[in-house]
Amino acid sequence: MSRAQPLQPLNNTQLNNRGNITPIKGVRRSKENQFDPVPVHGVPAAPPVAVAADKPKKKKEKLSALCKTPPSIVRTRNGRDYRRGNFLGEGGFARCFQMKDASGQIFAAKTVAKASIKNEKTKTKLLSEIKIHKSLKHANIVNFIDCFEDDVNVYILLEICPNQSLMELLKTRKRVSEPEVRYFMVQIIGAIKYLHSRRVIHRDLKLGNIFFDPQMNLKIGDFGLASVLPSLDSRKYTICGTPNYIAPEVLGGKNTGHSFEVDIWAIGIMMYALLVGKPPFQAKDVQVIYERIKKTEYAFPADKPISEEAKVLIKDLLSLNPLNRPTIDEILNYDWFKGPFPDKTYEESLVSTPPGFGKISKTQSSINFTNTKSSAGIYTPKNKNPVEILRSDLQSEQPKSLLPQSLSPNDTRNKYEEVNPSVLGKSNRRVNFNSNYSTTIKRLNQICFETYQNMRRLEYSKHEQIVSEELPRCENPILISKWVDYSNKYGFSYQLNNDDIGVLFNDENTILKVHNGSKFMELIYHENEGWTCIENSIHHPPSQVKRQLEIVDFFAKYMNSNLSKVSENEDRKETVFLRRYSRTSDYIMFEMTNGNFQFNFKDHHKICVSKSGLAITHISPSRIIQTHPLILVLKEGNFPVEEVPECLEKINVIKEAIKRKAFKDSSA
Ligand code: ADP
Repeated sequence: MSRAQPLQPLNNTQLNNRGNITPIKGVRRSKENQFDPVPVHGVPAAPPVAVAADKPKKKKEKLSALCKTPPSIVRTRNGRDYRRGNFLGEGGFARCFQMKDASGQIFAAKTVAKASIKNEKTKTKLLSEIKIHKSLKHANIVNFIDCFEDDVNVYILLEICPNQSLMELLKTRKRVSEPEVRYFMVQIIGAIKYLHSRRVIHRDLKLGNIFFDPQMNLKIGDFGLASVLPSLDSRKYTICGTPNYIAPEVLGGKNTGHSFEVDIWAIGIMMYALLVGKPPFQAKDVQVIYERIKKTEYAFPADKPISEEAKVLIKDLLSLNPLNRPTIDEILNYDWFKGPFPDKTYEESLVSTPPGFGKISKTQSSINFTNTKSSAGIYTPKNKNPVEILRSDLQSEQPKSLLPQSLSPNDTRNKYEEVNPSVLGKSNRRVNFNSNYSTTIKRLNQICFETYQNMRRLEYSKHEQIVSEELPRCENPILISKWVDYSNKYGFSYQLNNDDIGVLFNDENTILKVHNGSKFMELIYHENEGWTCIENSIHHPPSQVKRQLEIVDFFAKYMNSNLSKVSENEDRKETVFLRRYSRTSDYIMFEMTNGNFQFNFKDHHKICVSKSGLAITHISPSRIIQTHPLILVLKEGNFPVEEVPECLEKINVIKEAIKRKAFKDSSA
């Protein structure tokens, strides 16, 4: 896949001067024209929302009209050629064309005329769209491929979605069946859950921005109004959106502010529109739409019947008070999702209702629902009270079998892919990882590679004379002292010997509760960007992580009462996370964010390699810890204080495991 190129800042001389077109402020022109008979040019900045009805309505030219058809071959700065194909569609800001690369792969190029980027604000907005979109990777989000420019246009190269959007589907179908909408909703919700977990609010969710990929999976696109909230409790005040989809609190503007719940509102509008055939607050006059939204004045028309379960969910989604709207996870617990659920979206859906959907059995529907959720990246506990289920499950599964010594044979799972170790040591309130995927991988490879190289070098030089000044200073490292692998349900929990407790959840995010502190760290995984580390107060946890915190606490209690420690407590010197673990029948391997590797062997001896392979620590079954320069241990053939059975073999196993990581990852 092509690597994204930074968009060059545009200067005025680069801009094509093509007349004085005033950029649209705030509100996007709607593509959903069948729903917006009145062209909308903006929403006033403060309530009451009023567009002077007596002002003559002057039809403004769409900014996308400035977009010239790209040349038949567009060459990027680094010499890649893309052949322009058919016109795909037009929004308020951009026109979209097919582009083919040298290998014949087809993409969509969202093309923005430089002439339409005439002021700093518009430029900043476009750069923000690119930055946000580039940072996202999810099965139900249009994949960002690359970004480049020529003299007249900026091109955002995207995964192609050749089957148009839900808007066109609804136009053709007039109404969509409940089973199909259930399937759509799960895919949309999966993508929104992902966005919100990364503090991104889309703010322009609508049928026209949700596209079908070649396999008929839904993909959310158009991040032109998306925003990253600096913290969970901050709010946005810009009035923006598409009239039919705007949430009431957005119309409240500067007084109320808005947050993630605006996307939940939009889910309600889309669900209603698909099932009933038109959005709930639809009116000819935009002002009437806003008045209806502010009073949540809508009805379920008798001639377009929908199920009671659907009505219940829609009513809750369209709650006037944003806090009364269900959370993403709560939405999926509504009874409506228990109805017939298909295994996929068939191409036939583009033109008519596929037959037989109403007859899908309860069991099959439940299986399809679970599979669709998991493909959309949604891992939800089956029970509303995860702690209860966890407790009983642990008891029934005989907790002793989960002790660190029980290394389940043939189990070679690899959890978590990426953490950028250099930044994790810091305890900023919020740490952004701006490194892209390749840099992060490179960094991890570097650590594995350096450690492997050092171990190999020391083995060769063990017969040489030791210069004592060259020996590394060895202090005991931070170790994992207890762990519970509960990844079949929630994740992998561990306690460090500084008493911090972490859970590496199955969605690859981590929560680390700092011992004796009033804070906990949330480590959020971004496939492209690395990780974001957010420090939160235990006393005011963000609502989304409350359940996860309960799970951490439960694991903490469980580990304290059931598991014995590997080592005695160390003082808290640094913040360390488990970034990945792998299990084989002989050992469990932990890769820590400070670059250390810990191996717990089946015979209850543990070895940790630190200082990029220069230092080695042994933790005996009786918890005696000794750390020495690796060269000394290699020279002696064993640890000086207490002998380790098959010491050199163990060190070799460690070296080979690290080597495999180094070479496997670098070829990835
Ligand atoms: P704007 O920011 O101007 O609203 P959009 O991102 O909505 O632009 O794109 C404009 C139009 O281009 C869409 O309505 C659609 O017809 C087409 N389009 C956008 N992205 C894709 C894509 N990934 N694949 C195919 N067509 C697309």
